[in-house]
This record gives sequence, C-alpha cells and structure tokens, in this order.
Amino acid sequence: MPTDFASLDLSPALLAVVQELGYTTPTPIQVESIPVLLAGKDLIGQSKTGSGKTAAFSLPILQSLDLSSRSLQALIVCPTRELSEQVAREARKLGRKHDGLVVLTLTGGKPFAPQSDSLARGVHIAVGTPGRLLDHLTRGTIDPSGVATVVLDEADRMLDMGFQADMEKILEALPKKRQTVLFSATFPKTIEAISRTHQKNAVRVTIDDGEQPAEIRQLTLLAERDDKLSALYWALAEYTHESALIFCNLKATIAEVERALASSGASVDSLHGDLDQFERDQVLARFRNQSVRLLIATDVAGRGIDVEDLDLVINYELPTQPEIYVHRVGRTGRAGKEGLAVSLATSRDKPKLREIEELTGRVIERVKRDVRADPGLVSHAKAFARPAPMDTILISGGRKDKVRPGDILGALTGDAGGLQGADIGKIEIQDRLSYVAVSRAVSRAAVTALNKGRIKGRRFRATLTGRR
Ligand code: AMP
Repeated sequence: MPTDFASLDLSPALLAVVQELGYTTPTPIQVESIPVLLAGKDLIGQSKTGSGKTAAFSLPILQSLDLSSRSLQALIVCPTRELSEQVAREARKLGRKHDGLVVLTLTGGKPFAPQSDSLARGVHIAVGTPGRLLDHLTRGTIDPSGVATVVLDEADRMLDMGFQADMEKILEALPKKRQTVLFSATFPKTIEAISRTHQKNAVRVTIDDGEQPAEIRQLTLLAERDDKLSALYWALAEYTHESALIFCNLKATIAEVERALASSGASVDSLHGDLDQFERDQVLARFRNQSVRLLIATDVAGRGIDVEDLDLVINYELPTQPEIYVHRVGRTGRAGKEGLAVSLATSRDKPKLREIEELTGRVIERVKRDVRADPGLVSHAKAFARPAPMDTILISGGRKDKVRPGDILGALTGDAGGLQGADIGKIEIQDRLSYVAVSRAVSRAAVTALNKGRIKGRRFRATLTGRR
C-alpha cells in the first residue's frame, strides 16, 4: 500500500502542487481512492468532511482532463451552495498548474443567465447543487456529451435534503460510458440502490475511524385527525428542544398548524411554495440562527433545507412514502449528537409505520399516551411557547461589497455599536446582503446603531426581519 503521494502515479505537475500546498502524506481515503479513480473505475466511498475526500476525487479528475478541449469533462454534485464553492476552490487550487483550467460553480439562488454564458464560453469542471445542475441539463445549457466523470459528494446529505429524484435524473442525462464516483458518510438502502442502478462494478472504499454514526431516536404517538394539535402541543412540551422542524403533507395543513402555534405564543414560521427565493432564504437564516424556534414545511418546500444541529423533527402527518420519512428524520442527529423524531400517527397509519420499520430496519417506539383523555394536557402543553432568543437583522451589504463577519461584529460592538459580544449570534454573509442574529432585548438598538454607523467606511441599510 503506497503511503506517499509519489507512489500514487500522479503527474509531476500535480505532485508539485500537492507539495507546494504542504500536503506531505496522503490521507487514508486518498491512498485508497486515487489509484482506483486513476484506473477509471467507479467508486463508492465512505468519507466525511475533513477526510481529504475533495482532493481524493479532484486529483484524478485533473489528471485526466484534456485542456485542449473546452468541453465539460467532469461534473461534481454537492448538497449545498457552500460545499460547492468549497469544492470548486479546492479543485482550482489543485489545478493551478493546469493552464487555462476553468472550474465553474452552478448553484441555485443565483441568476441563471451568467451561468449559461460561462457554460457557453467553455468549462472543464462544473460543481453545483442538484436542482440547478438539472435545470441546466434540461434547458440544454450544459452539454453532457463529454462528461467522463461524475461525482456525487455527500450523497446521503443530498438524499436527506430531498434531492434523490434530481440526482437520478442527472445521472440519466449523462453519457452511459463514464466514471461514477459516490461519496457518502452513511450508506442507507437508497444509496446502495443508486449505486446498483447507476454504477458499474464500483470499488468500495471505507475508512474505519472508529466513530459511530449519530443515532436518531424515533417515537410515534397515536393521535386521530381531531387530536393532532393537542398531540403536537404535548410533544413539543414533552421533548424539550431549542428548535424543531415540523413536517406536514399539505400546504393547507401548514397554515392551520402555524396559526394555532402562533396564537399560543410560540415562535414559529413556515416554508411553503408561495415564497420567493429571497423570502425563503430569510426564513431559513432566521431558523438557523435561533430567531425562530419552530419551522413548519412540506416536503417540497423543505427541499434543500440545510440546518445543522436540529434537535427535533416532528411528523405532524406521516408522509405517503416510507422513503420520505427517512429523508425527514435524517435531518436530526447530525454532528454526532443524538437526534429525535416524533411522528403523530392515526390508527389508519399503522401499516405505514410497519413499512417504515421494514425499510429502516429499526423499531419506532410507541409512546403510550392518550392525548384525548388527558386533562392536564393543555396547561402542560403551553410550556413550549417560549420566544426565540434572537432576532435577525438584514444588512444591505454582502461578500461582493467586501463585508466580512468581523466588520459587522466591529460595527455592533465597541464604542460605535455598544453591544456586548455575547449579544451577537450567527453572522451569515451572502453575495449582496448579510444576516446577523442579535439578542432580542437589544435588537432595536442594534438596528439604530447599524443605520447610524458605517461598515468598512460605507453606509448600509439595516432592518429587522420577520413578522412582528
Ligand atoms: P476535505 O475532507 O476534502 O474537506 O478536506 C479537508 C482539508 O484538508 C482541506 O482543507 C484540504 O485542503 C486539506 N487536505 C486534503 N488532503 C490533504 C493532505 N493529504 N494533507 C494535508 N491536508 C490535506
């Protein structure tokens, strides 16, 4: 087994770059994967962020590129915009001795036309999120005929985010003769099925780092249609949480549940199909930074939700298909923490519960609690109606205005802003705007300070987000 880069059959140019970057020894996933990929074989690999997997698939791709042709030769599919940017950055870094190399990111939430213009000018490697990549393939702005390698990075996360159909359509749109690379932290049945359908004799690479995957505790509570709201209140109070994602099957149900929770004084918002991209981003930013505790969504509207550290997923209704159940509950129990999923099931849902258990090979605990016959329920239930700790301020400047987290922090603390560091939460910088979470108690003062002061010597508009 080779243990240095020199014995991995990489080109002199790539070896030089690796050395310049200070990568002295290849990581285990690189040792195992690079020879397989250089040989042109399909690969299904277990890996996590930080394992060096990006270089593991990027180096062989770079080695096999034909730079004299400006056709798209490799497609890398990632779950999020952020990961796509990160992968593209690493590929450009490793490809710095490849003169004329073009690596393009194609992610959602960005205008389509500049992306198709760049594609038309010629690109070697495209990195992007499933929805947008599929859009380009369907509209013909990506020409897939020269794609020799496709990588599905963090495939299990893409499944959790509801991208299975898009991933499969992308694979179907590519030439049959190609290399298919799949990286995933876990291997649920759906991943195995995708591998069987879309890969050929894939070599399996697993790195045993001794860490156990996070556990998800799954519970179900029997509640008939008319008792569901009571059951939801009870579950929210019983299973204490910082934040919870509540799934409904229909938009109409979302509205009903949201109204009920809001009138009880809960901090709640919802994602439904009528929101535009900006509104949707704003709702998600508020949920991620603890400005809203409960988020209600349908599966369609919830596609692409990427929230780390979710304590609790509630199925207000069981989904129609067991696979969807798996996607929903997979959003909790990340980052090594135990997750919790509570499903409210009617008596007619019993066969569905069994189907889910069959698919996952895990038993869903039945909670013995008769929500109808419980007089103490209502008072107990109100315990969930706490306000969220933070408020979100929207600032009209972002990355393209050279605004960095430290600049916003600086404007809010010290003499100018007067806030304590402890009052400031997550700062999210996007292209043209930023979101900053601040303690609810000081949020108005913070908005005033930001509108009076300057960030990077410039004035930006600051406003409080959310309904009030
Ligand atoms: P990844 O798991 O792909 O997100 O990579 C994690 C980080 O490790 C990235 O910042 C890489 O630049 C870096 N990296 C990748 N391979 C090596 C290596 N062989 N030696 C040292 N650092 C590496």
